[in-house]
Amino acid sequence: MDLKKFKDTVVRKKKSLSGFLDQLEELVPPDMQEIVEQADAEVWKEIDCTTCANCCKAMTPTYSPQDIKRIAAHLGMTAKAFRDKWLYKEEETGDWMNRTQPCQFLVDDKCSIYEVRPEDCAAFPHHNLKPFDIYGDTYKANLNHCPATLLLVDKVKKHVEREYIWPAQLPEKQ
Ligand code: SF4
Ligand code: SF4
Repeated sequence: MDLKKFKDTVVRKKKSLSGFLDQLEELVPPDMQEIVEQADAEVWKEIDCTTCANCCKAMTPTYSPQDIKRIAAHLGMTAKAFRDKWLYKEEETGDWMNRTQPCQFLVDDKCSIYEVRPEDCAAFPHHNLKPFDIYGDTYKANLNHCPATLLLVDKVKKHVEREYIWPAQLPEKQ
């Protein structure tokens, strides 16, 4: 994965892709889910996470209490020792997050605790959240870091624009 090229693409496309996701708050094609599923299948033919790991480098997962217990046990630590060593509690949400990026468990671009990794990591990049249109803010944030999400939103946008009068049919926002 050429992350420099990815970052350049983010700069180039972010505004139009974010604008498209915003438009979904007002108009959603009836076959949206099928469009997303088809685009997602195409994305994974082009993207190989094992050559990327940018989510582990640039973002933090959220650790649930079950994640902390499971990973701490795997490492032979208590949950408290695990939290004290690597995590902080986000004030607003109360979520446990990594203190530093890249993630401390990323070794040679691979997850060293893959079998017991946080559920949040296992589910990332969350392309199957349903319905797609109500998670626009999640995808907007993630397309800054995840080449797969950038490509997904780009493909969905192109597909929708091919099949619908979109977004020109929408009135200008006041
Ligand atoms: S726990 Fe593993 S998958 Fe999750 S961010 Fe860290 S290195 Fe990546
Ligand atoms: S989920 Fe996204 S950011 Fe993470 S490794 Fe795969 S393509 Fe890269």
